[in-house]
Formats: sequence, structure tokens, C-alpha cells
Amino acid sequence: TVRTRIAPSPTGDPHVGTAYIALFNQCFAHAHGGQFVLRIEDTDQARSTPESEQAILDSLRWLGLDWQEGPDVGGPNGPYRQSERGDIYKKHCDELVAKGHAFHCYRTAEELDQLRAQLQESGKATLKPSDLALPAEEVEKRKAAGEPYVVRMNVPETGTCMVEDLLRGTIEIDWAQVDAQILLKSDGMPTYHLANVVDDHLMEITHVLRGEEWINSAPKHKLLYEYFGWDMPVLCHLPLLRNPDKTKLSKRKNPTSILYYKRAGFMPEALLNYLGRMGWSMPDESEKFTLDEMLKHFDIQRVSLGGPVFDVEKLSWLNGLWIRELEDAQLADRLQKWLLNRDNLLKVLPHAKGRMETFGDFMPLVSFLAAGSLGLTEESFAGNKMELDDQKKLLQFALWRLEALRTWNKENIFAAVKELSTQMGIKLKDFNAPLFVAISGTTASFSVMDAMDLLGADLSRARLRQAID
Ligand code: ATP
Ligand code: GLU
Repeated sequence: TVRTRIAPSPTGDPHVGTAYIALFNQCFAHAHGGQFVLRIEDTDQARSTPESEQAILDSLRWLGLDWQEGPDVGGPNGPYRQSERGDIYKKHCDELVAKGHAFHCYRTAEELDQLRAQLQESGKATLKPSDLALPAEEVEKRKAAGEPYVVRMNVPETGTCMVEDLLRGTIEIDWAQVDAQILLKSDGMPTYHLANVVDDHLMEITHVLRGEEWINSAPKHKLLYEYFGWDMPVLCHLPLLRNPDKTKLSKRKNPTSILYYKRAGFMPEALLNYLGRMGWSMPDESEKFTLDEMLKHFDIQRVSLGGPVFDVEKLSWLNGLWIRELEDAQLADRLQKWLLNRDNLLKVLPHAKGRMETFGDFMPLVSFLAAGSLGLTEESFAGNKMELDDQKKLLQFALWRLEALRTWNKENIFAAVKELSTQMGIKLKDFNAPLFVAISGTTASFSVMDAMDLLGADLSRARLRQAID
């Protein structure tokens, strides 16, 4: 049976690119009567968080995607979280060393820097096992002294690696471009390459559909499959999403977090529909279709490799089509759930109440919370006493601070802003003025810290980014 997977790393906001790749994997598995697996690749312990994992799972579910095996639903090939599979990687890595396909590398950081500098001079692209080799007695000495080591894989020095891709045909990559990849780090954790190959094999994945950013990893993976004596899954590298200017989709130019779209009032059906149109089309070229319709008609050969543009204006237009096809009663339910529910009102009211004389004052006070983009212009900042350039600089610094916040709440937001204003020697009141415009776009609103807390991380950060551009 065909088995596909999505393997997100829980290191940040749930990315629309992850949903796009997940959608195509689910469709491909479905088209072949197969199964779709979700695996969490959290071997980067410093950057992975349980919050990010939860947000990814929640976001994919919100969109309506569904997997047969995963950390939340279980399954016969678990655990589905790489951080819980350390022994498996260790064992497989030992096997490679025993067979002579990988070696312990005791090179120190300084030596590696030196080697890289020499490499640059000689015009070579990568560090090969021969560059890294140490005399046998030196290895023994370092080993006896208990010095840290990593495990690296052997790679050919010359020649060309041929990788087959379902859509791209044969891809040729010179072995000269491929370095003696670290498989196991000195802390015993595997790198992406080892864990990914071992898991795809043990989880019986037959087809790997992933972003084209991974093409350059394919030679290492191919080699690992050969070293283990395993069949390699079919590879299929999907085109990356792009900004309207054709550069790789980036949050600086376009919101990339699924939570942004949820918070900004997009329908999950519409976002998923739009992602389905990224490089793919229905046989009848229809623009609007449901997940069920896509599942029914999916054919990987209809994927076109030209970089699909993720354009928020197009998405908004499509979302409008979805909204207009809802019954009024359905739309009322959606709106109520999205914004006008009791929980939301109870969160907002304490900030609005003091400024209300009639109920009629409520909507104007809080409408900025419901908007996606505020459509700010230079004029919007003209009332503040700082120069526009300085205001933007300040917003950029604030954005960097706020992007680093792990837990988004009023205390943390306030502490971050306060600290920055002190460091920059700007009074908090003056510091807050540009933030206020960027976040609420209006002067008739409540405290900017409260506003950011209520808006949530994704919408707040997106507004700061929009204000800076
Ligand atoms: P970076 O600027 O480091 O590339 P990013 O915005 O691409 O960051 P990552 O955290 O690297 O974000 O990626 C998160 C997930 O989203 C990854 O699984 C990645 O494959 C996917 N992804 C990122 N950018 C795109 C894209 N343009 N198209 C499709 N998927 C993407
Ligand atoms: N963990 C990788 C990612 O975050 C998975 C890449 C792959 O699909 O092989 O995209």
C-alpha cells in the first residue's frame, strides 16, 4: 500500500507551506487507497517546543486535514515523535559504523574552522572523510581522553549522484557538492538526515512528497538507503510557495502562519482550497472546490513545477466566494464562533467598557481587532512626533523582540517593550505611539499592550511587519 507522510519540525508558527505539503500528501495517499502519516521531527531540542507542535496539529485539523497515524492518534509504527525514538537512531547509527559506512569524528571546532578555511583556498566545496581523517593514534588518544565526537557518513569524493524524482525525472548532483554529513551529534541526538531516513523506512513510507528545498539532501538520503540495504521511497519534490514577486514565500512579505489566517477571518475551507490550487488544478479548471472534490480528482501528474504564487489578494477573493455561498444562517454561526462569542466579548469588554456611553460605541472601539490588514499609510503615523524613519526603526526593533517571545501574554509583551524602550532611551509613552498606530490603526482605542494581547501573536506581528514595509 501507498503510505505518505508529513514531517513538520515544531520550531515555530504553523506554516501555510506545511499545510500545502500535507494536503498533497493526503490527496496522493487517498488517490492510491493508501495511508497518510504525521510525524513530528523534533530532534532540534533547542528550537522545538510542545506549543509549536500543538499549534501545528491544531492548525492542520482546523483546515480539515486528517491522518491515520500520528502522535495524537497513535498507530502501529509509533512513537511518532522523533525525540522519543533516540535508541532507534543510535542503534542504526552503530550499524553504519560497524559496516564501515560511517565513522567517529573527533575533530574539534577550531580544527573544523581551519579545515574550512583551507577548503575555501583550494576551491573545494565540501569537507570529505579524507579531509577529516586523523592519524589512528590521535583518534585513540582523544577517545581515551573521553573527548566528544560526532558520527559522520562516508560519501564519495567524485562522480555524479542520480536521483529519480516522480515529477522532475532524473536529477544529477555532483558528489563533490555533498559533505561528510553528521548523522549523530555529540549529544547523541540524530540529525534530520539520519532520523528522516530511518523513520521513513520503519514507518513504511512509500512516497515522499516534500518541498523542493530538500532536493539537495536527496543524495545523502539515497546513500543512507543503500548503506542500510533498504528500498528507497519514491521521491517527489513539490514546488515551493512564492511571494507575488516570485521570491520564496516569506513572512516579511506575506503572513505565513496558518493562525494568522484563522485570526484574520478566513474560512478554513477557502484556505485549503487555495492551497490546493498551488501548482495544481482540477481537471475542469474550476477555482472553487472542496477537499472531498480534490481528493476525488487528485492526480499528481497535474502538478506543475512553475513556482506557485501565494497571493493574499487572490485568497481573499476566493474566500469571498466561499462566504457568499454560505446560507445566511451558516454565516451567522461562523461569525458568532469566530468573533462575537461570549468568551471573546468577555475578554474585550473590560477594555472597552470605560470608554462606552452607549452600546453603539462598542463596535467602533473594537473593530480594529477584527480586521486582517489595516491599510496604513504614511499619513497614519504623521500625528506622532518622531520622524517616520525613526518610527519604523523602532517598530522593527519591537518586532524582533516580540518575535522572540515564547509565551504571548500581556506581562511578557509589556516587559519586552519596556526593556527595549529603556535600552533605546525613549520614554515609554513616546515608544508606544508608533506601536499604537501599527497595531490599532486608530487613535480611539485602548492600551496597545492590551490590544496586542487580544489580537494574539500572529496578527500583532503581521501588523508590525505591514507597518514597517
Ligand atoms: P526560513 O526563512 O528559515 O526558510 P521559513 O519561513 O521557510 O523560514 P521554516 O520554519 O523554515 O519557515 O519552515 C516551516 C515549514 O514550512 C517547513 O516544513 C518548510 O518546508 C515549510 N515551508 C517554508 N517555506 C515554504 C515555502 N515557500 N513553500 C512551501 N513550504 C514552505
Ligand atoms: N522536518 C522536515 C521539515 O520540517 C521534513 C522534510 C522532509 O519532508 O523530508 O520540513
